[in-house]
Amino acid sequence: MQKGSIGVTTENIFPVIKKFLYSDHEIFLRELVSNAVDASQKLKTLSSVGDFKGELGDLSVRISVDKEKGTLTVSDRGIGMTEEDIDKYINQIAFSGAEEFINKYKDNANAIIGHFGLGFYSAFMVSSKVEIHTLSYKEGAKAVCWTCNGSPEFEMKESDKQDRGTDIVLFIDDENKEYLEKSKIDELLRKYCRFLPVPIVSGKEQEWKDGKYVDTDRDNVINSVEPLWARKPSDLTDKDYLDFYHAIMPGQDDPLFWIHLNVDFPFTLTGILYFPKIHSNIDINRNKIQLYCNQVFVTDSVEGVVPEFLTLLQGVIDSPDIPLNVSRSYLQSDSNVKKISSHITKKVASRLEEIAKNNAEEFEKKWNDIKIFIEFGMLSDDKFSEPAMKFALLEDTEGKFFKIDDYKKLIEGAQTDKDGNVVVLYATDKELQYSYINAATEKGYSVLLMNGQLDSHFIGMLENKLEKTRFVRVDSDTLDNLIKKDNAAVCDLSKLDKDIATTLFKSQLPKTDKADYFVAFQPMGECAAPTVITQSEYLRRMKDMASLQPGMSFYGEMPDSFTFTLNTDHKVVKRIISEASSALTDKVKPISDKIDEANNQISEIRKKSELSDDEKKIISDNESKVNNLREEEDGIISEYAGNQPIIRQLVDIALLSNGMLKGEALSNFIKRSVDLL
Ligand code: ADP
Repeated sequence: MQKGSIGVTTENIFPVIKKFLYSDHEIFLRELVSNAVDASQKLKTLSSVGDFKGELGDLSVRISVDKEKGTLTVSDRGIGMTEEDIDKYINQIAFSGAEEFINKYKDNANAIIGHFGLGFYSAFMVSSKVEIHTLSYKEGAKAVCWTCNGSPEFEMKESDKQDRGTDIVLFIDDENKEYLEKSKIDELLRKYCRFLPVPIVSGKEQEWKDGKYVDTDRDNVINSVEPLWARKPSDLTDKDYLDFYHAIMPGQDDPLFWIHLNVDFPFTLTGILYFPKIHSNIDINRNKIQLYCNQVFVTDSVEGVVPEFLTLLQGVIDSPDIPLNVSRSYLQSDSNVKKISSHITKKVASRLEEIAKNNAEEFEKKWNDIKIFIEFGMLSDDKFSEPAMKFALLEDTEGKFFKIDDYKKLIEGAQTDKDGNVVVLYATDKELQYSYINAATEKGYSVLLMNGQLDSHFIGMLENKLEKTRFVRVDSDTLDNLIKKDNAAVCDLSKLDKDIATTLFKSQLPKTDKADYFVAFQPMGECAAPTVITQSEYLRRMKDMASLQPGMSFYGEMPDSFTFTLNTDHKVVKRIISEASSALTDKVKPISDKIDEANNQISEIRKKSELSDDEKKIISDNESKVNNLREEEDGIISEYAGNQPIIRQLVDIALLSNGMLKGEALSNFIKRSVDLL
C-alpha cells in the first residue's frame, strides 16, 4: 500500500474548490462523466489503430446511486489507469506554483478551475470521500484502488477489480444528499450528457406495474438523440434537421430555416442554429441556444459568445475552443470567443444570402417571419448589416418583394426629386392609408409596406446607409410636395382668394387641442381628390420617438399637426373658391386693404434701428387694429362658410379618408350627405 501527499503546493486545495465552486456544485457530474467518456473514446482509438487487441465490448458509461451506502458511482470500460497513471494524472495535479496562482485569482476561482482542468477534483465539492477503482487496458496491469477523504493525503492499494475500466465512487457528504436521488441525477445527465458519443446509462428504464414503477431489464440510456451537428451537412436530410429540432425544442412549430455551422479554422466550431417561427412578442425567448464543448453541455446563457441578435435563434453550438467553466466576464473578454462570435455572424449572413439566392421564392414566403431577426441584426450589428443589405427584402403594398438595391433602381426614374434625392414612399397601414397609397400608385409611384415592429428604426438605418435617399410616409404630404419636381404646377390664385379660402375651410375644420391644421393649396390634377389631410413626416417621427424615449415629452405633448391641402385643379374646389370670391370680395377687400395698410406701417417703422415711444405705440395700436380687422374678416367668411354645407362636406371627406372622422362627426357627415343627395 502506498500513502502520499497530493502534489499541490497549497496547504489544501479542497476548501478552495468547495468554496469557490459553491454555486456550481452540480458540474462535478459533468466532469466525471466526461472523463469516463474520454477514457472510452481513447480505447476506441487505440483499438482502431491496433494498439489495443482485446474486445471493446459494451462501452456504456454507467451512473448508479446506492442510497444505503450513500454513494454515487460513475463506471466506464475505457482505458483505465495503472498505478503510475494515477500518480501522474491524479496525484500530481498538473500545475506548479498553485499557491501563487490561487492568491492572484482568488476572486475568480472559476477561471482557475477551467484553466487547470481540476475536473476530477470537483468530485470533492459533494463528497467526503472519493474512491477510484481502476484496471488499465494494458496487458498485465494490476487493478488499483485509490482513496482520498478530501485532505491532501491519499491512499493507494491493490484492488480486486476484474473488469477493465474505472469506477469512481463518491461518498456523498451530508450537505449534498440530493445527489443520491436518481431523479436529480437523471435531470443533470439529461442536461449535461445528452449528446455524449458513448451511451450514458442511468439505471434501468421503468414501467408502471401493480400500482408502482418498477425497473425493467432495459438500460435507461440518457443520450438517445444523436448530436446531429457533429455530422457532415451533406449527409443530412431536411427531416434529420427537423427531427433534431423537435428533439431539442419540444412543443414548437417547425423552424423557418436552419444554419449548420461547420468551421475548423481558425478555431473549431460546429453547431446548428434554427430560426424559430415566432407568433408574437411573447415568443421571443432568449437563451435557447445551448453551448457545448465536445458534446458536453456547458451553458445555455450564451451572451457574449453568440452575437446578441442571434440569441433569438435556437439550437446548439459546440466548440472545444470555448473555455469551459469560466465566468461570464472571462468568457466575454476572451479573444477566441470574440472571434467565434464574429465568425458566427459572418456565417449566418452568408448562409442567408445563399438561401435568398438559391431559394428566392421560399425566402420571400418566409420573409415576414424572419424579418424581425434580420432587421434586429442589421440594427445591432454592423458586421451583419453590411452583408444583409444584399439579401434583406422590402415589400411593397401589393405584396411584391425586392432587394434593397433593386428597389432603389426600380423607383429611381419616377421618384427622384429635383434635388436628386430618391424618395421612398411607405405606408404603415394598408387599410387606413389606402387613399394615399392609391393616389401614389395611380401616379406611377411605388409604396412600400413598413408595418413591422422594428421598421421605424430600420427606415432610419436605411436612410443612413443609402446615399441620397429619403423615406416619407405616403400620407405625410401631398405627392407633389413629397417628390418635388422642377416642372411642378403652381397655384395661380390671387392672395385675396387664398386668404378667403384659407378661412373658409379653417372655420370648418375640427377645433381640438390635440390637432392643429394648416390650409395649403396645390394643383394636383383634375382627377385627384379635392382635399387631402397629411401629417408631417418629421413631426410624426419625433412624436413616435418621444413615446418610446423618456426625456422627449416635449414632442410627445405637442398637438398633431396636419396639413389640409386643397387641390386647386379640382372643379368643386375651383367652384367653391370662385363663388366665395364673388360673394365676399366686396365685403372683405376693404378690410383686407386696411389690414395690409396697417401691416405696412408696422414694417416701415420696424426698419428703423431705434424706436421712439411714440413709434412703439403706433406699432401696438396697429397690431390690435389688425387683430380686430382679422376677427371681423374671419367672422364674415365663417358665417358664409357655415351656410355652405359643401365646404364642411369636403373637409369631412378628407378626414374620412384619413380615418379621422368618428362618432358624432361621422354621423353628421352621413346625414349631410343624405341631405345633399
Ligand atoms: P482533465 O480531464 O481536464 O485532464 P481531470 O482531473 O478530470 O483533468 O483528469 C486528470 C486525468 O486523469 C485525465 O486526463 C485522465 O488521464 C485521468 N482520468 C480521469 N478519469 C479517468 C477515467 N475515468 N479513466 C481513465 N483515466 C482517467
